[in-house]
Amino acid sequence: MDFFSHILWVHIPTRNKLWHDEALIFSMLPDVGFLLIMLYSMFWSPMDTSYAEAMRNIPQVFLDIYFILHSFVTVFIVGVILWKLKPRLLPALSGWIIHILLDIPFHETSMFATRFIYPLSSEVYFQGISWNNVLILALNYLAIALVYAYMIHRENMKQKMGDEWEPDIIDELNHLGAYIFNRKRIPAFNGKRYSLRRAHSGLPGEDEKGTG
Ligand SMILES: [Zn+2]
Repeated sequence: MDFFSHILWVHIPTRNKLWHDEALIFSMLPDVGFLLIMLYSMFWSPMDTSYAEAMRNIPQVFLDIYFILHSFVTVFIVGVILWKLKPRLLPALSGWIIHILLDIPFHETSMFATRFIYPLSSEVYFQGISWNNVLILALNYLAIALVYAYMIHRENMKQKMGDEWEPDIIDELNHLGAYIFNRKRIPAFNGKRYSLRRAHSGLPGEDEKGTG
């Protein structure tokens, strides 16, 4: 998927989170691998070669970096390291996971097919449709706009309804995430959301003391 779509798809679900900025950084990180490949084709390959030719002769290390950054294996390893060093930032890895999930169906079988379990295997990938297609891009941005509009509408409704609000699947996922990542260390809401959330703290598994 294109650079801006990756950022927007991660921004929408994480924009109220304390780890929002880190999630955005993780959403951009995999395509640093692509940036290096572009820099290689522009500056480090012989001057008179075409892009296609430069790609044929590209040193394997550039592709390795690209594949490693688009692999769940790497996300897992980084997750273990974060768990030890900065557990507060673990949920931000969702930005990286969303990036890979979006790239799996929207890269054609080619040099850049998403090898999502690399280096365990470079043969496991899907025959997707390239995002670099006007129809796919149009549908993608339409979906972004619709999801964003829905999220804003939902938040307005939630604010308006107060105690009447029935927790929906998004609330359930937030609670599950907070439960997994220990709410005490990772408050997932800013002050405004926090007060909203307190009003609905009657879910199964909820415990008033643990909030915040
Ligand atoms: Zn990518």
